[in-house]
Amino acid sequence: MSTKDFLEKDYYKALGVSKTAKPAEIKAAYRKLARKYHPDSNQGDAKAEERFKEISEAYSVLSDEKRRKEYDEARSLFGGGFRVPTGQRPGQGGFGGFDLGDIFSGTGDGGGGLGDLFGGVFNRGRTTAQNRPRRGADVETETTLSFGDAIDGTTVALRLTGEGPCPTCHGTGAKAGTVPRMCPSCQGTGQSSRNLGSFGISEPCKECRGRGLVVDDPCPACTGSGRAMSSRTIQARIPAGVADGQRIKLAGKGAPGERGGPAGDLYVRVHVKPHPVFGRSAGDLTVTVPVTFAELSLGSEIKVPSHRGAPVTVRIPPGTQNGRKFLVRGKGVRRKDGTTGNLLVTVEVMVPQDLNSKARSAIEELREATAGQDPREELLARAREA
Ligand SMILES: [Zn+2]
Ligand SMILES: [Zn+2]
Repeated sequence: MSTKDFLEKDYYKALGVSKTAKPAEIKAAYRKLARKYHPDSNQGDAKAEERFKEISEAYSVLSDEKRRKEYDEARSLFGGGFRVPTGQRPGQGGFGGFDLGDIFSGTGDGGGGLGDLFGGVFNRGRTTAQNRPRRGADVETETTLSFGDAIDGTTVALRLTGEGPCPTCHGTGAKAGTVPRMCPSCQGTGQSSRNLGSFGISEPCKECRGRGLVVDDPCPACTGSGRAMSSRTIQARIPAGVADGQRIKLAGKGAPGERGGPAGDLYVRVHVKPHPVFGRSAGDLTVTVPVTFAELSLGSEIKVPSHRGAPVTVRIPPGTQNGRKFLVRGKGVRRKDGTTGNLLVTVEVMVPQDLNSKARSAIEELREATAGQDPREELLARAREA
């Protein structure tokens, strides 16, 4: 007799009694039917024999107070709650016409996933949560790249530390020369079931904590757990164009899965060392270039550095203000989509610290020549307006 039997068979109907029938009523009904269908008085009648079996099975459950309770519970839990989506078939006993084959196989219209539900509730040797393949944990680590490697992409060696099988006992948890034995409490399944009959809830075995194995002489290195911290080194490909502080996901490079499950993912937090000359602004490179007042004022062509390339020429038009930005196309960081960012050049006037006499007198001449122009005149006027 199985849980499936419980759900499929209407024992009350088999005995012709109501669900609230008293034990005496059930006993009387059984006696009457058993006499009628007993094989001794129905020699060779297969139908009668079948009926007799049915009656006996029904009585064996309903006459036992504990089992009758389990039966009632199982049917009230699963017998009345489902609706039949299609193909209602009346007269299929006390189960409301629901096709049990669909429920258990999980292939019917209304049965999707119910196989799992039943598998979890009834511990019938199905794969339990503890024994299923388990995905490895996600692992997080960090690495520091040079400015250039962050732009071009690189391969780095990452040392990952994590829990894995103990190397001393190869994960068995047993001392060298001994082996763990099957847990006698759960027969190695790792599951125990508060199972008084056919109906029960399963939980990890307390004796072996769900491992299914018990160790008599524990491995001294891992004190019997079979697990130990270990480290491994992996080669990780860092894509081109990563930015400082960015988190990169490397799928399947995390902790290995258990019982054939997939590995977890590895997340790498990237730090990028600053460059003495260049900065980064997303896909663009930035550089600040010193210029003279004369270059901005009169206009000029200046050479500016490019990253890992020959200097490029930038034309400064006459009358360029200090701090203006110039854009050099295609001299930035290669982006994911294959395009390349730009180089942003900021001009910054350098004021000379030491002037020779010729330069000094030239600047003095400039001052005299521009004496009538007060650069703050407009500012002061606008300040008064408000
Ligand atoms: Zn060990
Ligand atoms: Zn156990």
